[in-house]
Amino acid sequence: MEKREECGIVGVYSKTGKNVAALLYRALIALQHRGQDAAGFAVFDGKKIIGRRGLGLVEEVFAEKDLKVEGRIGIGHTRYPTIGNCRVEDVQPSIYKETAVAHNGHLANYDVVKRRLEGMGYRFKATVDSEPLTYYIDKFGIEEGVRRIMGECEGAYSDVAIHKGRLYVFRDPFGIRPLVWGENKDFVMFASESVALDINDIEYKGDFENGVLLDVIEGKKIEILKKERRNCMFEYVYFSRPDSIINDKSVRDVRIALGEQLAVEAPVKCDVVVPIPDTSRTAAASYAAKLGVPYDEGLIKNRYIGRTFIMPTQEKRKEAVRLKLNPMKEVMGGKRIVLIDDSIVRATTMREIVSIVRNRGRAKEVHVRITSPPIIAPCFYGVDIPTYKELIASSKSVEEIRKFIGADSLAYLSVDGLKKVIGLPICEGCIAGKYYTPFVSKMAEVVKQK
Ligand code: SF4
Repeated sequence: MEKREECGIVGVYSKTGKNVAALLYRALIALQHRGQDAAGFAVFDGKKIIGRRGLGLVEEVFAEKDLKVEGRIGIGHTRYPTIGNCRVEDVQPSIYKETAVAHNGHLANYDVVKRRLEGMGYRFKATVDSEPLTYYIDKFGIEEGVRRIMGECEGAYSDVAIHKGRLYVFRDPFGIRPLVWGENKDFVMFASESVALDINDIEYKGDFENGVLLDVIEGKKIEILKKERRNCMFEYVYFSRPDSIINDKSVRDVRIALGEQLAVEAPVKCDVVVPIPDTSRTAAASYAAKLGVPYDEGLIKNRYIGRTFIMPTQEKRKEAVRLKLNPMKEVMGGKRIVLIDDSIVRATTMREIVSIVRNRGRAKEVHVRITSPPIIAPCFYGVDIPTYKELIASSKSVEEIRKFIGADSLAYLSVDGLKKVIGLPICEGCIAGKYYTPFVSKMAEVVKQK
């Protein structure tokens, strides 16, 4: 629960000539959990691209009149900044002449790519990685532009683009970041998660292929560069909404199976299983059911408190946890508690939670179970997992982490258990330090040495 989330994207085309702005708005509301810093959309009105962008939550960014913008092709974005500060210039979609791009992911070699494009005469106005993609497409046209993106840009990306009045979709060669699509009689939609389709009454049709460029209007697919799939496991463990389907798997079903697998691998004698809200609820319920012990909400979350990670000092973060979570002694007093969470990053938040459960919740024992393996390495593919230095599991053993957080016991799900449950090829960057692209592998080595 200490990690920041990443971006959400949507692209839509009306087959029957209807306006799409309202659908983009609804889709972005459904994807709000993927980024709360800014939002925007771009619509092609038949002659030009019209952009609407701003800082803040989707509801704050758009006014009623924005939803009346006319056009039957559009793309949208909710932003969490993987690079750059959040200035209005950095809000996506990036728009340049006849091209607009909304991007989810991270270009690990952004600086190299930027220099290359500057050499071609492009002047960068923002610090956001959709901007170079927009220039590639402007310079080389859609097919050659995407070919060059897949050949020259390292990292992970799922993108929707408008170019010369048409809608295009492409996903990186490994398909690391999610992208699904759906259709009804009026619209075809592409989005980071299926909840964006649900909210628009658009039927989920499936996962969008990696390494492929699609011209949505023509239905023409061009395979550009396909590698073995590497789905981000964190989408299942933490990011995506439980009511989403991504990579053709229900997030809720995966979380149930994660809880069950964790119960098989790391059972504990206990009186009650308590989730750390919100993500771990589903897994905590299945962990409890598998062990045959009660599940209860022992930590009540104040929804109006901001995210704790932005607090600059440890003292303030500690204070923020206290403000955010209230332990119920009615649930936990005098009992052996198992706390379930999705992951541990720095462990400072978990230490504070264990302390309030023991002291203010009056728990007799506090055991911690985590539904992912230890996070031992940073992410260079679009998820804000910090440096080696800040990641507690990159330098400490499970026992050392247990002592640090002050729990009676601590166990993580195994890498094999995670792979078995997800049942798809996953990215093992942050859990095994395995990266799939040469620039990133080299970068990881350099960062580690430092
Ligand atoms: S390194 Fe981890 S967080 Fe990053 S894409 Fe891979 S699985 Fe996801």
